[in-house]
This record gives sequence, C-alpha cells and structure tokens, in this order.
Amino acid sequence: MTSMLTHLDNASPNPTQKLSRGDMLRTLTGIVGPNGVLHEPEDLLVYNCDALTLVKQDPMVVVLPTTTEEVSQVLRFSHKNGIPVVPRGAGTCLSGGTLAAEDGITLCLTRMNQIDWVDVPNRRLCAQAGVTNLQITQAVSSQGYFFAPDPSSQMACTIGGNVAENSGGPHTLRHGVTTNHVLAVELVLPNGEVVWLGSSCEDQPGYDLTGLVVGSEGTLGVVTRAIVRLSKSPESVRTFLAVFDTVSEAGKAVSAIIASGIVPVALEMMDSGFIKPVEETYHFGLPLDAEAVLIVEMDGLMEATESEVEIATEICRQGGAREVRTAASEEERLHLWKARKGAFAVIGRIATNYCTQDGTVPRGRIPEMLATISDIGKKHDVRIVNVFHAGDGNMHPVLLYDERDKSLVQRALDASYEILKACVDFGGSITGEHGVGVEKLGMLHLCYPEATLRLFADLRHLFNPANLLNPGKAILAPGEKSKEELMLRPPAAL
Ligand SMILES: Cc1cc2nc3c(=O)[nH]c(=O)nc-3n(C[C@H](O)[C@H](O)[C@H](O)COP(=O)(O)OP(=O)(O)OC[C@H]3O[C@@H](n4cnc5c(N)ncnc54)[C@H](O)[C@@H]3O)c2cc1C
Repeated sequence: MTSMLTHLDNASPNPTQKLSRGDMLRTLTGIVGPNGVLHEPEDLLVYNCDALTLVKQDPMVVVLPTTTEEVSQVLRFSHKNGIPVVPRGAGTCLSGGTLAAEDGITLCLTRMNQIDWVDVPNRRLCAQAGVTNLQITQAVSSQGYFFAPDPSSQMACTIGGNVAENSGGPHTLRHGVTTNHVLAVELVLPNGEVVWLGSSCEDQPGYDLTGLVVGSEGTLGVVTRAIVRLSKSPESVRTFLAVFDTVSEAGKAVSAIIASGIVPVALEMMDSGFIKPVEETYHFGLPLDAEAVLIVEMDGLMEATESEVEIATEICRQGGAREVRTAASEEERLHLWKARKGAFAVIGRIATNYCTQDGTVPRGRIPEMLATISDIGKKHDVRIVNVFHAGDGNMHPVLLYDERDKSLVQRALDASYEILKACVDFGGSITGEHGVGVEKLGMLHLCYPEATLRLFADLRHLFNPANLLNPGKAILAPGEKSKEELMLRPPAAL
C-alpha cells in the first residue's frame, strides 16, 4: 500500500506543451487502431449523455479499447498529457456519471466483451468489463447457476458499470447487491498501472480495496475485469401479484411482509401511473383501475417457498388487497417480470422526457413517502409516477417532463431536490443504487458530516491524484469546484 501511495504521489502529470488534436488522434489510433477511435460530430452525439438526458456534453474523442493493455496505454497517455478521461459502459447511468469532459476522452469499455473463464464447481466467473449483466447469467444458467444482481437494465448494462455503481435490482432484496457478489477486480489506475484487487478465494489480508472500488463511480480507476460469485438457481420459485385500491395499503403490506420475518427475493411496487402504460404494452392483465400492485417473489426449497407465499398472500389480503394472483406457470412468471423490468421503456407512451429519482427510506415510511412525493408533484405541477424496489425502501419516483418546456424542466428539478431531501429527512438517503454522478453532488452534505466528505475526497485523491479520471462526479476532489448548473439545487423558494 505504501508503495502505491508513493508511486501515485510522484506521478502527477506534467504536460510540457499542449498536444494538438491531430497528434492526440494519431496516438490514440496507434493504441487501439482506427476503428477504435471516434471523433466525427455525428459519432460523438451518441456519447453526449447517459440515461440522465438532462445534461449533455460531447466528448472530444471516444476510444473503444479491446484489451487491458490498450486501456493502460490510453490512461498512461492521458496522464502524461493532462487529458481527462471518463470511463463508460453501456451508458445506462441515471445520474450523469458518464457525462463527457469537453476536452477529454470518453473511454468506452463495451468492446471488452469476453467471458475469460467459468469455474462452476467453485461458483466463480471472470468477465471483461464490457460483458453485459444478463450475459453472465446466460453463460451459466444451463448449469443451474445465475448472477444475482439484476438491474432492470440488465440486457444492456455492463459488469464494469455494475461494479462502478454497486448496482442493485429487483432480486437483490434477499441476495444482496453487486458488492456482495464481486470477489476481485482488475483495475487500471489513472496513471496506467494495472492492479488486481481482491482474490477469487474468500477473504484476503489487508484493506478491502475491492469493496472500495465497488460503487466508486469510475473515480478510482478503470475496471477491466471482474471475478464474480455465481449463485445456485433455487429449487422452486413462486411469484404473485397483489392488487390494491390505495398506495397506502400496498405500502403497509410491504412493511407487514418483512415484519413477519419473511424476506422475499423480490418485493416490487408499481402505482397507477405505470400500471396503464405497462398493461397497454405488455398485456399481462394488470387491473387498469388499481391504484397500486405489488410483485412478490419467493424462492428456495419447495416447501419453504410454498409456506412463505401462503403467509405473504394472507398478509396482503388482510392488508386490503382486493386480488392476489399467483403466476400459474413459468411462462406467466416471466411475462410478469418482463412487464416490470420493461416499465421504463413504456414511459414514451405518457411523456416526452423523464427523470428517475432514487432515494431510499426506511421501509415502514414508504406510505408517508409516497404521499410526500404526490404532494411535491402537485406543488410543482409535475406529474410523477412510481415503480420501485419497495422491499428495500428504494423509491424510484419518475418525473415526467418535456425538455422544450423550460419552466417544466426547472419544476421537475426542484421537485427532484425536494423528494430526495424528504428521503433524507425520513431517515433515508439520496441514492439507493443509481449513484451520485453529477446530479447529486450538491446533496452529499445532507448525508455526511464535513469530516466524512473530506475522507472521501482524500481517498479519491490517493488513487486519482491529478483528478483526470471522471472529474466532477460522485465525490469532489479536494478543492474541486463542480458546475453548479449540472447539480440538483434547493428550489429558489426553499
Ligand atoms: C431502464 C433502466 C433501468 C435501470 N434499473 C436499474 C436497477 O434496477 N438497479 C440499478 O442499480 N440500476 C439500474 N439502472 C441504472 C444503470 O443501469 C446501472 O447503474 C448500471 O450498472 C450502469 O451500467 P452501464 O454499463 O450502463 O454503465 P454506465 O452508465 O456507462 O456508467 C455508469 C458509471 O460507471 C462508470 N463506469 C462504467 N464502466 C466503468 C468501468 N469499466 N470502470 C470504471 N468505471 C466505469 C462510469 O464512469 C459512470 O460513472 C437502470 C437504468 C435504466 C436506464
């Protein structure tokens, strides 16, 4: 550890003269080949934002490496010449974490898409950073295994992005989020040095640097490989839908299920704002007049699963569910999940643009929080619909707007700030799984005292002393000022 510290401290870039754009493109082409460098305006457009479409910036150049050695060479080059680098996977980030640096390189890992090895007896798999989340499960499902973290974006998002964001998903309530399933990472430090953190064996001496990198939002190094834990597919899986006439009853049922001692694998909630467009798209048979539905899944040994379903369905009925419908076949179960996981894709039916928020609250406060979200929406005249990981208390209010209406955009931003602030006031946090990115930088002080923020900044500085890797994201470097216009801020009237 000491040697890394010394090395990084001595490694501040010292560009003697500014590189011309032509020289830069030539060097990068020399590293990754002509097909791995994009610099025409129409190519850059694709990389000017992620799934937080409110903030946009074209990068100077996009580089698509295929090996760790190429990543290392790009970072060595950028470090030597003082060029900012923004790592990027599939660009599904909802907090602007991949927002490009105007004078920088966007380093897109999607061509590092190979699974290096699978070790089923030891329940391990090693994947390059650009392998998608779903590909990992697909690689081992025929052998009775799966990769537990399952963000709804799993068809597209990469394991590198999952590691950087410590992603969750509907099924992480019982199984845990990405950090619980990553054993080791290959990391390229901002100066180009390649290190392995963690190990494919359980437990290692020293600091848990793998744990530090998971969730670091691309600010400590570029993840090029991850060794992940594989989970055994359960003997039985049962899923049911509970239909409620009020969101408050549905929210109370969530708390009651967990309070009974049962931890479902998944416990998701969708309100009426989503039910209609989801049903129109996926035709599952969701009741269009319901105010809320819960999707509850149990898995494990057959008898235990059956008994847990019985208890949980009874709790829902006693809590006011007017209908409880258990998926009768695997086909029906997958149909229901397709509707849930595809929920964001249907928003185009009801709005031009949307912004998904990601606060958490203690589970017992979900009904109050839903009422607060509704009040905030009314106050700012912004339509808000909800689909979220209720079991985790991870709220995802989706604020609908039209980017051509500047007043509405501002009101959506004001409402977002107030919702996240309310989550903190209820004892929760400003992000459950989507990260801080650029969006929530100005709200971190609501969650942590000054001393903790300083510690974060110092850690960032240790790995990333020149602050060239993902500047202005997640944690501000010591003395760094970020662009205020990119962040959520208190509404003028607050
Ligand atoms: C429809 C939809 C549904 C979603 N559902 C969920 C959900 O259920 N649960 C959940 O947790 N999230 C969800 N997300 C958010 C998002 O999909 C996850 O955060 C995902 O892990 C991002 O992966 P990505 O490959 O798209 O990364 P990107 O968006 O490309 O990058 C995300 C961040 O990681 C950094 N990064 C990317 N790759 C690397 C790398 N190799 N090394 C270092 N840093 C890197 C980037 O700089 C950025 O800060 C959803 C998003 C959408 C659009």
